[in-house]
Amino acid sequence: MIAIYPGSFDPITLGHIDLIERGAKLFTMVVVAVLRNPNKIPLFTVNQRLEQIRLSMQHLPNVDVDSFDGLTVKYAQMRGAQVLLRGLRAISDFEVELQMAHTNKTLSTQIETVFLATSNEYSFLSSSVVREIARFGGSVDHLVPPHVARDIYQCYAQNHPVSNPIKTEVI
Ligand code: ADP
Repeated sequence: MIAIYPGSFDPITLGHIDLIERGAKLFTMVVVAVLRNPNKIPLFTVNQRLEQIRLSMQHLPNVDVDSFDGLTVKYAQMRGAQVLLRGLRAISDFEVELQMAHTNKTLSTQIETVFLATSNEYSFLSSSVVREIARFGGSVDHLVPPHVARDIYQCYAQNHPVSNPIKTEVI
């Protein structure tokens, strides 16, 4: 059974990776699908995010990395997938995720949304938390893989000289 794991991944975090690793044990293949969203100004381009995810997941042969735009269920149908994989961290995720799952069900009755609960140690972790810490010069070394941390520091060093990261643990 093929599962699509759609998201922004701007950038991929250890929370995402944990979910993908657990999903890869449950499904024949997990396709990590980066949404091309013209309404958001991202920190990283889609191509940069694809590269970051590929490097993070190269230890798992049944994980594919791709990008898509438009409806997730249409993309899932195109890939021959039966499952949309999503993560749940808190009640706030639950409301949004349930609405999305129900909406997607109205679009395709063949595709099921499967939720995995966050691992305890990543329950606070989101891409926006990572961006916020880095923006104010904190260390994100404990939240993302080393190659992603390097990209983040480089990005803020170039675009935001004031927020040059100081290597301190902020959390
Ligand atoms: P973020 O909320 O980090 O910006 P994305 O849009 O990239 O995330 O999220 C894709 C999916 O990954 C969503 O279902 C989200 O709930 C899930 N997710 C993100 N971070 C975590 C985490 N730390 N633990 C479990 N699931 C997560």
